[in-house]
Amino acid sequence: MELYKLTIHEANELLRKKEISAKQLTESVLKRIEQVEDKIDAFNTITAEKALEEAEVVDKLIAQNEGISSLAGIPMAVKDNICTLDVKTTCSSNMLKDFIPPYDATVIERLKRENAILIGKANMDEFAMGSSTENSAFKKTKNPWDIERVPGGSSGGSAASVAADQAIFSLGSDTGGSIRQPASFCGLVGLKPTYGRVSRYGLIALASSLDVIGPITKDVTDCALVLNAVAGLDTKDVTSSSNPVDDYTTALKDNVKGFKIGVPEGFLDNNLDDEVKNSIDKAIKLYEKLGAEIVDIKLPHAEYALAVYYIIACAEASSSMARYDGIRYGYRAEDYKTLEELYKKTRSEGFGSEVKRRIMLGNFVISADYYDDYYLKALKVRTLIKEDFVKAFEKVDVILSPTSPTSAFKMGEKRDPMAMYLSDIYTVPANLSGLPAISLPCGFDSKGLPIGLQLIGDLFDEKKILQAAYTFEQNTDYHIKKPIL
Ligand code: GLN
Repeated sequence: MELYKLTIHEANELLRKKEISAKQLTESVLKRIEQVEDKIDAFNTITAEKALEEAEVVDKLIAQNEGISSLAGIPMAVKDNICTLDVKTTCSSNMLKDFIPPYDATVIERLKRENAILIGKANMDEFAMGSSTENSAFKKTKNPWDIERVPGGSSGGSAASVAADQAIFSLGSDTGGSIRQPASFCGLVGLKPTYGRVSRYGLIALASSLDVIGPITKDVTDCALVLNAVAGLDTKDVTSSSNPVDDYTTALKDNVKGFKIGVPEGFLDNNLDDEVKNSIDKAIKLYEKLGAEIVDIKLPHAEYALAVYYIIACAEASSSMARYDGIRYGYRAEDYKTLEELYKKTRSEGFGSEVKRRIMLGNFVISADYYDDYYLKALKVRTLIKEDFVKAFEKVDVILSPTSPTSAFKMGEKRDPMAMYLSDIYTVPANLSGLPAISLPCGFDSKGLPIGLQLIGDLFDEKKILQAAYTFEQNTDYHIKKPIL
């Protein structure tokens, strides 16, 4: 078997037994990148040389019989909005196309401590604004299951690289679904942790009250392993939580007996593709068969979540984008006579159209005349949405829904921004409420495209969604299928 096909836990076992070396594994993944990257376009930067050096370090540890961590020697792709020391971090934007961070994000520091190996920086929608990775200023990443289709977004490169075996796992960021939706489009497991569970230090902000970093992996076991490495308090991030961190691998039990799984009223009705609905219905039946109890729940304010999300996300984005002024770092326009002109030209030339749209929308909803009508109202409704979840979690352990209303769509199909925004309908409620949520493969449609199931958990209850996801995975084989490339 080609080593690039391995999961983290499979590779770790072989490394520990000295049946393979970290160098062989890294070389295999690099060879795979050479084979398929032309088709997939998952990476903005590939760090082959550094990766091989790091692999040698791991091999020395193994040779000296030093115990190695679960992630040692494992090649990973990292979304290009997570800062990596001495390695370009572009946010797929012309604004940061030459930005080389002088520091590592906390998640990268932690993964390096475990000797995980950075293989490259993954393409994304510019500044993480989008659901298809078509908004990248550099390239359009293709879905490995059908290269005429999008991989989802905004962490499209992170998902496509893992689905195409160009990385064993990856990191993405999720502000409104950007880990879960691409994971679902690419047949992978994607976890958005509880807000504050994983440090955001070194994550280039889109909307700070919503952003989180999380893993995209080939299976649920790998997801727990990566979460173990990155979760936990970081004093460099004021929103980071001191809540104790679990060992997430203890949640990997094939058992949902007595689990109460909530299905929100109305979630499986309108706007949902028939084939997606079918797969979700089947998943519900399987959970029942495995001993879980399905409970009808109500999330009465969820229907406003999308509108609330786009108001809050744009408001915060307009403020996050204010720092790109051509003065401190990033792109600077060449021809200007006045300071004003420098700002204008830099921002006009450096940002793509989706970023500009959101800056304008954001500035509008927080402008003095409209603040009360839009932004303040959105904040109030956000509280109502959160309260719905608090009530729901009094009755259930996890909440089940589709991850996305459709499977992967064709490139160029959603030119209307509103149509694109609608693809986030099932993912944004968890961000608005700070709740952890996982997407895992639950079927294929008649076009052979993967379908994702979303499980939302209560705050800091990653373990329950991991256990429910693991149980589903143990009783199905959707995660084993690979795209033919
Ligand atoms: N698709 C959503 C948006 O465009 C989510 C983005 C994200 O999670 N980064 O805002």
